[in-house]
Amino acid sequence: MNKPALRRHDRSEMLHARACLHMPGGVNSPVRAFGAVGGTPPFIVSGRGNAIIDADGNTYCDYVGSWGPLILGHAHPRVVEAVVKAAGSGLSFGACHAAEIELAEAIRARMPHLELLRLVNSGTEAAMSAIRLARAATGRDKIVKFAGCYHGHADSFLVQAGSGALTFGTPSSPGVPLAVAADTLLARYNDLDSVSACFAGNTDSIACVIVEPVAGNMGVMPPRPGFLAGLRQLCDRHGALLVFDEVITGFRVHPGGAAALYGIAPDLTVLGKIIGGGLPVGAFGGRAELMRELAPLGPVYQAGTLSGNPLACAAGIATLRVLEEENPYERIDRLAVRLESGLRNAIRAAGQAGTVNRVGSMLTLFFGPEEVRSLIDAVRADTARFARWHGAMLKAGHYLPPAQFEAMFVSAAHTESDIDATIEAAGHVLNALSGDAT
Ligand SMILES: *Cc1c(COP(=O)(O)O)cnc(C)c1O
Repeated sequence: MNKPALRRHDRSEMLHARACLHMPGGVNSPVRAFGAVGGTPPFIVSGRGNAIIDADGNTYCDYVGSWGPLILGHAHPRVVEAVVKAAGSGLSFGACHAAEIELAEAIRARMPHLELLRLVNSGTEAAMSAIRLARAATGRDKIVKFAGCYHGHADSFLVQAGSGALTFGTPSSPGVPLAVAADTLLARYNDLDSVSACFAGNTDSIACVIVEPVAGNMGVMPPRPGFLAGLRQLCDRHGALLVFDEVITGFRVHPGGAAALYGIAPDLTVLGKIIGGGLPVGAFGGRAELMRELAPLGPVYQAGTLSGNPLACAAGIATLRVLEEENPYERIDRLAVRLESGLRNAIRAAGQAGTVNRVGSMLTLFFGPEEVRSLIDAVRADTARFARWHGAMLKAGHYLPPAQFEAMFVSAAHTESDIDATIEAAGHVLNALSGDAT
């Protein structure tokens, strides 16, 4: 064993400083910079099961799980073995190979509404390609998205709500052309009237409605009963396609994803995260007649040098196979329920205001509001308090997402005693927060 570093974060701090010389903010994805919570992000040297270890030798119980892919935990032996074996036979062919078929079959076995699918390299790419297809198939340009839902960083999705912005989107990032943003209409999650208003104001010009069937990127927010069914009806009535972004929820909230959990079949589905088992993979798929519009069968262009990469396919296949064999869903959901109620009790016992939202094994603790059913509720959350909570939990060895509007993930590698240790730490941290708040 290495000697503990002089200070607990010396090495991470040095690495962060070095990273900042070469990469904007020292990161390759913004949330990793800990901007929302402050402090230096720990540099991770290894992960195994539920635990990650940083460069200073600190061990954390991980509830981020690489933002969702690691439903089996870190370095699951079967997944690692599959990747190593595949690597020995070549890293990429840019040509057809059988593992692509196996991954497609594994996905379709659980999600039969993906009559045909295509593999890509990220969720962003999958969502971007799905709306190109939706636009081509309907001959319409506009899309409806929900404020607070995230579908990757393609231009069409980087559009934010403003009051009365139900008909015209405005970009939420410089660099997104106004003309592109104007084709993205914004609606309010869990508010069918706001979707009806989009259709009413844009007759025959909306290609699709894209939604996270369980919102995960404004903190976890379950769909209200009837919301997804209502979207299905509205799309059918107006000749638009319904696109489920199941990048988080696919193989997470149910073996068949949110579509199976809620019994609603979308026209197109966007996948990522779990289907790559920790390697870069995305996929989109849906009704065969739509998917046949894609090149080489149809005119809609979409391609990828590394798409269907053999290592990524191997990791995805192994992950889906272990999920199939071990069917850990009931157990991890039970652990998540335990964590949810433990955190709720801890909040109450500490005299704090807040709530916990949970669907399956994804959950978010919101500070402030007693109920979070919409983006409006979510943005009332006390992010300063969240930042202090995050820092204290990290110090106590519990690695939570470094931003209020994200999901914690429970994996098959967590145990009851992990959950109980996290609840106990949360109790101490929340009590301490109450102390210095008054
Ligand atoms: C993570 C995520 C994406 C983007 O996937 P990347 O692989 O990060 O490009 C898209 N949609 C949802 C719902 C996500 O959570």
